[in-house]
Amino acid sequence: METKYIFVTGGVVSSLGKGIISSSLACLLKSRGFRVTIQKFDPYINIDPGTLNPYEHGECYVTEDGHEADLDLGHYERFTNVHTSRANSVTTGRIYQSVIDKERRGDYLGKTVQIVPHITDEIKRNVKFLGNTGDYDFIITEIGGTVGDIESLPFLEAVRQLRWELGQNSLCIHLTYVPYIAAAKELKTKPTQHSVKALQEVGIQPDILVLRTEKEVSPEMRRKIALFCNVSPDSVVQSKDVNSIYKVPLTMHEQHLDEIVMRKTGTPVNGEPQMGKWLDFVNKLDNATEKVSIGLVGKYVELQDAYKSINESLFHAATYADRKVDIICIHSEKINEANVAEKLDGLDGVIVAPGFGQRGIEGKFVALKWCRENDIPTFGICLGMQCMVIEFARNVLGLEDANSTEMNPHTHDNVIDLMEEQKNISNLGGTMRLGAYDCELRSGSKAAQAYGTLHVRERHRHRFEFNNEYRERYENAGMECVGENPNAHLVEIVEIPSKRWYIGTQYHPEYSSTVLSPSPIFRSFMEAAIAYHDEKAK
Ligand code: GLN
Repeated sequence: METKYIFVTGGVVSSLGKGIISSSLACLLKSRGFRVTIQKFDPYINIDPGTLNPYEHGECYVTEDGHEADLDLGHYERFTNVHTSRANSVTTGRIYQSVIDKERRGDYLGKTVQIVPHITDEIKRNVKFLGNTGDYDFIITEIGGTVGDIESLPFLEAVRQLRWELGQNSLCIHLTYVPYIAAAKELKTKPTQHSVKALQEVGIQPDILVLRTEKEVSPEMRRKIALFCNVSPDSVVQSKDVNSIYKVPLTMHEQHLDEIVMRKTGTPVNGEPQMGKWLDFVNKLDNATEKVSIGLVGKYVELQDAYKSINESLFHAATYADRKVDIICIHSEKINEANVAEKLDGLDGVIVAPGFGQRGIEGKFVALKWCRENDIPTFGICLGMQCMVIEFARNVLGLEDANSTEMNPHTHDNVIDLMEEQKNISNLGGTMRLGAYDCELRSGSKAAQAYGTLHVRERHRHRFEFNNEYRERYENAGMECVGENPNAHLVEIVEIPSKRWYIGTQYHPEYSSTVLSPSPIFRSFMEAAIAYHDEKAK
């Protein structure tokens, strides 16, 4: 079949969950046997979110091929179980950079380079890039931002032009908000009407409206919206709040979103999506009552999206173990020797989060020392693993000044040090050790048991590494280096086998946990936390 292009725009307010709607639609189409991918076009000038801090942008997601991407790509992968790549996340900055490079090369043959047509053509080229590979039946393109923003205009203009070029092979889904006004006890449709009007003003008529709402939007109200917004009445779908994002594909299917999309793009509709495994997962999450409590130690814990993939991975792991996970956020800056027991006691497991820079680092050491000494199941991820290594050096190896050269460039014991290939890098954007690398596991280790194999590939995002000069001392003292990159001999996993579960990974397993294939190491950590919980209860 010819590739179909679905554009997803948003109006009224941001944070409506275009990513979840796009992912849910992709999940349904994938379950019908189609080859689907989702891409995000973000209207900011940064080349990628890699240089943005979590206060600006939440988590920075990393693709297999080493692209630092918008966190929505995480949802795309978690819902579809399909890897994304550099081509799935494009920003205004990338578009402009490419146009300016072409201009410098002389590609425009003396023409004046303009937003229309040069920027819009470049956007269109990028929109169609994955479609042109022939690998996909459906390409879902999420346009970041909200209709009416100055910066999304070139993207919307590109969508307008593409709708003409692609005809029935494309459609536009517009996501809006229907607020409930408590004082009037009424849902209000006016913002939706205005938002559709704003879209029409730039020449785009949406084909399908998805209404985000906290309360039921009556069929009558939906008919009214259809009438005023020029949309067929069966194409107004509501997305009412649910207690888990993983239920959204089901609520979308109940309202036939997948069928409407197929019908409108001339795709024969037959059969039903095969959602059996997905339903099993949703049933498990509904039926889980017993709790498991995991402490997340980090410096951005007050931000909902800063550790998105870790939260989701914990949720996947707990759900498969028929438990409800309670994630207790613990601010690393607020942990000290005096209060650590009070803050961590009673938890079934602790995760020490990834991160950059000095802030909050000492609290991570204090937490780790307490967890190690009290034998709590503990999982260190990236910086968290590096902190495990430093804490062990200070308190077990007796190297009091041990540190990462990231935190103290003059430390006497640089147990974590800058990677050799990082030493001459001065640009911060896109220059870390990024993307998936091989890791060989030591047979018999807990990590190997967790994965059930001796060879894994996981994604990275770091500049510093375990300093191999200290390896022997660690091994002799009981912290083993049980995962190694076979080419560069970088240490990728450390563990203390004498503990219940004390493992640090230099890589980020959270980026590859999906609903249908949850991360094995998160599952193993969760099982250890549950076992510890049950042990305490006895
Ligand atoms: N700051 C550390 C490094 O660059 C860890 C990075 C991380 O946790 N993602 O190596």
